[in-house]
Amino acid sequence: MEGLTPLGPGREFDRIREVLKGARIGGGGVRVPPGDDATVLDPDLVISTDLAVEGVHFRLDWLDPHEAGARAVGAAVSDLAAMGAGLLGVLASVAVPEGEVWAPRGASFMAGIRDRVEELGGRLLGGDLTRSPSGLVVDVVAVGRTHRPLLRSGGRPGDELWVTGRLGGASGAVRLWEDGRPVPAPLRLRYAHPEPRLSEAIWLVEHAHARAGLDLSDGLAGDAGHLAAASGVGVVLEASALPLEPHPEVSLEEALHGGDDFELLVALPPGAETDGRADAFRRRFGLLLTRVGSLRDGSGVALLEPGNDEPVPLTRGGWDHFRGREEEKR
Ligand SMILES: [Mg+2]
Repeated sequence: MEGLTPLGPGREFDRIREVLKGARIGGGGVRVPPGDDATVLDPDLVISTDLAVEGVHFRLDWLDPHEAGARAVGAAVSDLAAMGAGLLGVLASVAVPEGEVWAPRGASFMAGIRDRVEELGGRLLGGDLTRSPSGLVVDVVAVGRTHRPLLRSGGRPGDELWVTGRLGGASGAVRLWEDGRPVPAPLRLRYAHPEPRLSEAIWLVEHAHARAGLDLSDGLAGDAGHLAAASGVGVVLEASALPLEPHPEVSLEEALHGGDDFELLVALPPGAETDGRADAFRRRFGLLLTRVGSLRDGSGVALLEPGNDEPVPLTRGGWDHFRGREEEKR
């Protein structure tokens, strides 16, 4: 499993590629080098790191500090789910501004971190605390184990792409907040309380023979692009199949480009609907599992819209409707 896993297109990923150019990749006990959702160290230790910055990833007029801390843990642990790993615990480095106003907020933020990791069945393993010049910051290092890592590579032409749960809810909430409009409770929950699909991912590897997968943090289009690049295949998404959060504000664009859903995207060998794998998953977890597309020879991500015979590339400039969206959001 040596060699850097290729990332999909985007300015943020260009910067990461630049840093990794010339880095020593693999060897030294590294089973899965940078480029996947987490690294895997011999024999089975899975480690990922995830930064949450007030004003960038969360705002305290949207979430209270306890929720913000808990959210950072949920988002970080989702990268373990993306690897088909179980959770051992997290280390959390926190920066809190000085002053009377911030002391209780910082305490509540840290309590949110502790409470959420325990709720997820893990332990707080350690961390660091320092001053911040402005706003709360946390870096969560999530630690887990897996004997069978689920990688972004491994998808093959002909595989079907499936997603858990519903898409677009979290970014729908953010858009409503930004527009100064009321946010319905179900959308708020999708943003405030990401649910890492830990058991679901392990099941999909063991029982549905998932060949490749990741968690949806940047939006289906971008994340499918990572899977395509890592697996060396093309992805076709079917617009009419996407399981949107049932709310009038949640659009196809939200599901494709919104991010923060923290659902799983997996490539399964074909036939999961007819041979019972999909239904077995739904019964076991009481959660949607929806076929959203397939893998084919080629590269990149294309979208098949109703009434069209041919999928349209979802790259920059390929589909003008989505141009101008800031790619480097988080
Ligand atoms: Mg991820």
